[in-house]
Amino acid sequence: MSTTHEVFNQPAPLVDVNLFATNRAMQAALAFNAPALDTTPLHALGAVVGRGDMQVHARLANVHTPQLKTHSRFGHRIDQVEFHPSYHALMNEAVGAGLHGTPWGGGSPSPHVLRAAGFMLFTELEPSILCPISMSYAVAPALKDNPAIYQDWAPGLTSRAYDPELKVWRDKPGLTMGMGMTEKQGGSDVRANTTRAEPAGADAWGQRFSVTGHKWFFSAPMCDAFLILAQTASGLSCLFLPRVLPDGTINAIRIQRLKDKLGNKANASSEVEFHGASAWLVGEEGRGVPQILAMGTMTRLDCALGTSGLMRQALSIALNHTTQRKAFGKLLVDQPLMKNVLADLALESEAATALALRLARSFDRAGDPHEQVMTRLLTPVAKFWICKRGSHFAQEAMECLGGNGYVEEGGEGIMARIYREMPLNSIWEGAGNIMALDLLRALRKADVAAALAHELAPARGMHPALDHLAERLPLRVEEMATEMEARRLAQDVALAVQAALLAQTAPAAVFGAFCDSRLGGQWGHSFGSLGAGADFDAIIQRALPH
Ligand SMILES: Cc1cc2nc3c(=O)[nH]c(=O)nc-3n(C[C@H](O)[C@H](O)[C@H](O)COP(=O)(O)OP(=O)(O)OC[C@H]3O[C@@H](n4cnc5c(N)ncnc54)[C@H](O)[C@@H]3O)c2cc1C
Repeated sequence: MSTTHEVFNQPAPLVDVNLFATNRAMQAALAFNAPALDTTPLHALGAVVGRGDMQVHARLANVHTPQLKTHSRFGHRIDQVEFHPSYHALMNEAVGAGLHGTPWGGGSPSPHVLRAAGFMLFTELEPSILCPISMSYAVAPALKDNPAIYQDWAPGLTSRAYDPELKVWRDKPGLTMGMGMTEKQGGSDVRANTTRAEPAGADAWGQRFSVTGHKWFFSAPMCDAFLILAQTASGLSCLFLPRVLPDGTINAIRIQRLKDKLGNKANASSEVEFHGASAWLVGEEGRGVPQILAMGTMTRLDCALGTSGLMRQALSIALNHTTQRKAFGKLLVDQPLMKNVLADLALESEAATALALRLARSFDRAGDPHEQVMTRLLTPVAKFWICKRGSHFAQEAMECLGGNGYVEEGGEGIMARIYREMPLNSIWEGAGNIMALDLLRALRKADVAAALAHELAPARGMHPALDHLAERLPLRVEEMATEMEARRLAQDVALAVQAALLAQTAPAAVFGAFCDSRLGGQWGHSFGSLGAGADFDAIIQRALPH
């Protein structure tokens, strides 16, 4: 066959790069939030998640999506989900890296920050398998309120062994957990739950219930157990629902179908019914909402971490492309307007990383009163703002690749996957408005104004626009009463804290351009509208993934 043309000016993909070693923003945030942290495990994980064979697993797990098998070929109800081997390979790596329950086992001076950084790095490989990983991390604080179950399950939830088999917990070296709150008639307003739980005796795990009802979203149904909400005689209560009962029989959880989702393809999200399923009370009967919110706080942290990881991935791919691709006689990265877009994305990515890891720090220092307020304040703020920025960010990063970005397997092949994944972290675990309303609740409960002033103090005098915002913000926080302004407040708190963090962790070029644009008004409504005075080269240089 004769050759019609030579292929040139198509970039080499970003592969076999250590994603930790090349992430200067993450390293700076770690040095700030966890100075004594041994980053050796992150170097090791960064190499794994950047590897070409792992990228193949990520692609295959998303192309060969989970399949529901409701019945065996002999007609028996089995309610199993079948996954591609690549899904299990990814789960194996994530559990092996301790991205699920390990912080609860201690062993590091900053276990939550360490795990948070690992979670962000893994997101750059494949985010959807991290759903059960995140839920397994999040259950511990809530599950501790049934000490008997916690004692039996904690070793499996903190172990680094992945075992996908459907077996009784005591026969498994590793365990995963999910959660079920959302029903057809309400997700944000879980008080509308109709699933009923009737008392069914007591045993070694405490008060037992028989559960009848449904869940409209029930992700990772192959987990070993779930925390669910159901109505008992005392009101909405939190219950522990294992898939296999202690006597080895399968619990009466029927998987109705799997959701056909926009993205997040490798993860199975199901609709289920409970037909008199056995479950055990966790915490106080009738106090299910605060109980499960302890779990929601951790998964909201993961939403902020996950979107920050996806931003970094999209930015790295955009930089990889534009530093190799030429148009109009120059590398794209050298075209002034492209510089502006890339630098603007780099600022957003570094600010997201800084805020997400700062929030993670508050979980490591849970005994410190200031950090307690920061957990309460920054969880809704970071979840709201970082996740809100994600979709816009992904679209702009995709556009840096031109047509290749829009093609499922074009260029580096994963921009479309990132774009489809982005809205999810904003929706689940409390959509944007719910986060803004949660911020208002936080303001009513703690002395947030003083804590915020304390948090912003180290950056005082470093930029006039930040000073201006920082002076007014505590007052706005104190006076804030109306729901109508809650999103704007969440945004402004996020920007102020991000700027104050960048003042302490980033070079002057990054901090200055962030404040000029986000706080000082030298910015438009799209990425790529930084003022001409920004040090574009320095900002881009810091973000390069090589
Ligand atoms: C892929 C995927 C997986 C999921 N997995 C799980 C899972 O494993 N377990 C689980 O329990 N749930 C899961 N969910 C459900 C998810 O948490 C809910 O979809 C989410 O909480 C929103 O609830 P909803 O869909 O009922 O929307 P609604 O509650 O109807 O909300 C719709 C919109 O109205 C807004 N809104 C609601 N109340 C107010 C208000 N007072 N003021 C202003 N605006 C308001 C919300 O912000 C949202 O934008 C999953 C969702 C997705 C997409």
